[in-house]
Amino acid sequence: MKPKLSCEWLHGCSGCEIALLNSGELLLSLFQQVDIVHFPLLMDHKYTDGAGDDEEVSLPEADIGLVTGGVGLESHHGVLKAMRRQCRILIALGTCAVHGGIPAMRNQWTAGCTMETVFSTATTEAAPVPDAVPALLDRVLSIDEQVRVDVSLPGCPPRPKMIVSVVEALAQQKKLRLPYKSVCETCPTVRTGKGQAVIRRGTAKPEYTPDEPLSRMRCLLEQGLLCMGPVTAGGCGGREVPLCLRSRVPCRGCYGPVHEGGNQLLDMMNALASNGIDYRTIIDRKSLLRFSGAHGRLRPEKKRRGGQQLS
Ligand code: SF4
Ligand code: SF4
Repeated sequence: MKPKLSCEWLHGCSGCEIALLNSGELLLSLFQQVDIVHFPLLMDHKYTDGAGDDEEVSLPEADIGLVTGGVGLESHHGVLKAMRRQCRILIALGTCAVHGGIPAMRNQWTAGCTMETVFSTATTEAAPVPDAVPALLDRVLSIDEQVRVDVSLPGCPPRPKMIVSVVEALAQQKKLRLPYKSVCETCPTVRTGKGQAVIRRGTAKPEYTPDEPLSRMRCLLEQGLLCMGPVTAGGCGGREVPLCLRSRVPCRGCYGPVHEGGNQLLDMMNALASNGIDYRTIIDRKSLLRFSGAHGRLRPEKKRRGGQQLS
């Protein structure tokens, strides 16, 4: 009998599911090895047996569970707990599930502030928050803040080949080998150890000769561009060149910190200081947590300042 696979989505953009569905022939190979028992993007499924509003979420049992997105709504608690209960191995898939991702940027404000900002703008009259909008939790959580996670696969989105190979390895009960390198470690640009002392504006362009290979281009951080390669987990390009660097664009940090428990903001400050770059030239430092703001890293000002209101 084939192992059963269950997929569930929480607070995210569905990009992880699309990455999986876009994997073409790899997906066909995966379908031959597992039976999909639950996948809201592909099949209809009732979450309860219809007996009443207070009943527990009911999901099928599975050998492997994939959860994308963080926990951002009240309703996500029950669904995530049901996935944990029913899945023998639970995988946090994508940076939102592993580190909160882009939705966790709202953790800088309270849920009330976020709703008011979304429904009233400076150019329109303040509108009441509609009743139909689901209740937001006060902050977006990564899924390991709520349940035990067996495997974490970050990426925004994760590399399709990595998703399929990890699920296949688990289905065949093989040992997993996940990369624990930084983006810099697979980047071929030239590092001299001496760079600009300041970070240039985000719109600054890198310097390179168009016909020359990437291995002749100077490291973007040394050119004064805010490249987060030193503090970001590698894997987006497999063993090849990281994806953004292929287009000569600085890494924005989408795979999250290199090591479990790492903090991309603090780690980047350290990396800048050790490269002789003045960290004060970064205007919006909190943006360094744009992909990894869960685990309590981004939180409303008033909480950090002992009860003062947001300015
Ligand atoms: S800082 Fe950026 S450009 Fe420089 S080596 Fe690391 S990934 Fe490459
Ligand atoms: S280079 Fe950085 S931002 Fe770009 S895909 Fe890779 S990890 Fe994400």
